[in-house]
Order: sequence, then C-alpha cells, then structure tokens
Amino acid sequence: MKSFRAISFVGVSLSSAVAAFAAGSTGHAFYGDPPDDCHPWCVHDQNRPQPRVVAPLPASEMETKAKAPADAVILFGGTEACLSKWCSDKKPNEPTKWIVKDGNMECVPKSGYVRTKEEFGDCQLHVEWAAPSKVEGDGQGRGNSGIFLLGVEIQVLDSYKNPTYADGMACSMYGVNPPLANALRPPGEFQYIDITFHKPIYKDDECVQPGWVTVYCNGVLAQDRTQIEGPTGHRARTKVGPLADKGPLKLQDHGSPVRFRNIWYRPLPAAAAKGGVRGPLSAKATAAKRKELAASIRKDAAKKGDNAVEQMLRRAESLVYEKDDATSKKVEQTACAYAASLKQLSSGQLEPKKDEVKKVGDALKYLAKWNFVPADFGPKADVEKIIKAQGWDKKK
Ligand code: MG
Repeated sequence: MKSFRAISFVGVSLSSAVAAFAAGSTGHAFYGDPPDDCHPWCVHDQNRPQPRVVAPLPASEMETKAKAPADAVILFGGTEACLSKWCSDKKPNEPTKWIVKDGNMECVPKSGYVRTKEEFGDCQLHVEWAAPSKVEGDGQGRGNSGIFLLGVEIQVLDSYKNPTYADGMACSMYGVNPPLANALRPPGEFQYIDITFHKPIYKDDECVQPGWVTVYCNGVLAQDRTQIEGPTGHRARTKVGPLADKGPLKLQDHGSPVRFRNIWYRPLPAAAAKGGVRGPLSAKATAAKRKELAASIRKDAAKKGDNAVEQMLRRAESLVYEKDDATSKKVEQTACAYAASLKQLSSGQLEPKKDEVKKVGDALKYLAKWNFVPADFGPKADVEKIIKAQGWDKKK
C-alpha cells in the first residue's frame, strides 16, 4: 500500500509539474519565493485571489482627466522629437531603439528598456499604454511591459481576459501586490494609468517613513497606498531597503510591442521627514515654521501703515502663529482706539463701514475663542455691541 501510494504520488506530481510549467506564464506552484512572516502568499502565487473585473470609465471621460496640468513635465507628448528625452537603459549615452509611430512610443522587442534622461523621485505620474491589438501569447507573455520608478515596477500587461498570477497582473506592484480590481480595456485600446509615488524615507539605515504607491487604472483604484518594501523583482521576495533618492522613469521591453503615449509627471513637494512641509512636522520644525510665518506676516503688516485697521488685523493674525508681547500690545492699543472711534459715530455714519466692522468683529471673536486675547477683551464687546445695534448680526 505504502509503495503504491508513493508510485502514484510520483506519477501525479510529474504530470502536474509538466502541465504547470507549460502554463508557466500564468503562474504555478514552486515558482516564486515562499511565504514568510509578513507575506502569506508565495511571490507570484497561483493561490492568490484574482482581482474582480470592473468596467473602466469611458475613454471620453478619461481624455479630459488625462490632460497634463500646467506645471507637469512632459516626458512624451507624441512627437518624434520627444524621443530626445529618452535613451537606452543599458547604454544611457545612446538613443533608444524604441520608435514613434502614429504619435505613440512603441517598444521594439529585444531593443532593451527605455529610460528618461530626466531623473525624479516622489511624483504624480500619468502614463497611457496599449497592448498590441493582435493578441499573441498568454499570461505574462501577452502585452507585457512595465513602468519602473526607482526600481519599483507597476506592471503593464494585457490582463483583459488573460489570467496570470495575481501579483503580476496589469497595475500590480509586480511580485508584491495584486491590483484591487481589473479595470482593463481590451487589447489595442489605451489604458489610462495615474500613479502617485512616495519613496520610503530612511535615516541612519532606519525607515522613518514608509513609501507608498497609489495607482488608478482607467479611473478605477488599483493600488491604494500600497507600501513600498524595496525594488521589485521576478520570483524573488522584495528585499526591504531604501530606494535611490531620484532616478529615471523606465519602461520595460518584455518582448511585446506595447505602445505608450501622454507621459507626464509632477514632482511632489518634499515630505516633512526630508525637511519639507508635507505631512506632520516635528514639534521643533513646527515651532520654526510658525516663527517664520509670524515674521513674514508682521513684515507685511509693517507695510500697511496707511491703513490702521488692516495693519491691526495683520498683526493680530501673526499672533495666531507666534505669541509676541510687543505685537499683542500694539493690537490691543489699536483695537481700543478703533472701538472708541466707532462709538462716536451715528448709525448712519457706521453704515458704510459695515464690512470693515464685521471683519474686525469676526477677527476679535476668533482671537478670543482661541485665547489670543482675553475672553472679556474690551474692544471685542464694544464691536459686538455695535454690530448687534446695527442689526448686522441678523441673517437675511
Ligand atoms: Mg513587466
């Protein structure tokens, strides 16, 4: 019995293995690195669920959304001349062998990856690509290319009715995370891909802020702040680690004449952890920034010498960012004088000042609410009284 089972097992496993390897590009067992403590699936695991199919937004709707904003850097705009912004990846001093045809940049199989001469890091990136209309091959062998940012591949693949391992489908973070949905159009049609890319931030070999990738495919969310572990790879588990600070955009030659068009990016401002102001700042950095803002507002206030009310409001605004006794004193003096002057005016004389008085009233209310002036601040009560007496507090 025992030996029969063994023979039977060997027989089955051999035939399964042959079948599985024949369908290698759709995924099979014993292919990618095995599960570990953080990843329940193998790399390219055939047991990983397939994303659900979702109808993409109509191309007509995507056209307007895909237009490059004014500050975008155009990497490929549809002309032959745009190729000058690209070069061979292997030999960066040489032009790419990819071609421009009908306004599209097309991969010439076996010519190698193409890369931009421009280098950048965190960005919003827009790319449109189309798999060949003539369907050839299957799984990973059909319309394969890739969008590489600092070594992280967002997969380009004809995933329209073309099963493969889930973490290798179009818009997967290749070998790491499948797309949330499959919103692919049929081969031959252009897919509209929008990516936001934040690289992880390391200090002294320690990750102080993870990196993320968000991807929309034809308007449908495909990656939702998927954490970047490190550069992606084939069959191998991603090694956790930092990425380069900046680098070129690379497009993959995987043997298929995939076409690209409308490629542009916008650099993102520096994250707080890199000395910028994107994201929460440390207490020290916050204090420094507030001081800087207050100084700038006070400088502006100094220029408003011919308009005492505007000057007072600007000075008061600076207190919101930084306490300053001298400024508080000036605000108090001006506010008292202002309220006293208003009290001298008749209802008719006040009427033309309605907007200004209400503006001062709102400012004093805000300052008292947030304890920048005492709750019983005299001018606040005076101005409020006038607003009420004039009936300016009533909603029309
Ligand atoms: Mg690829």
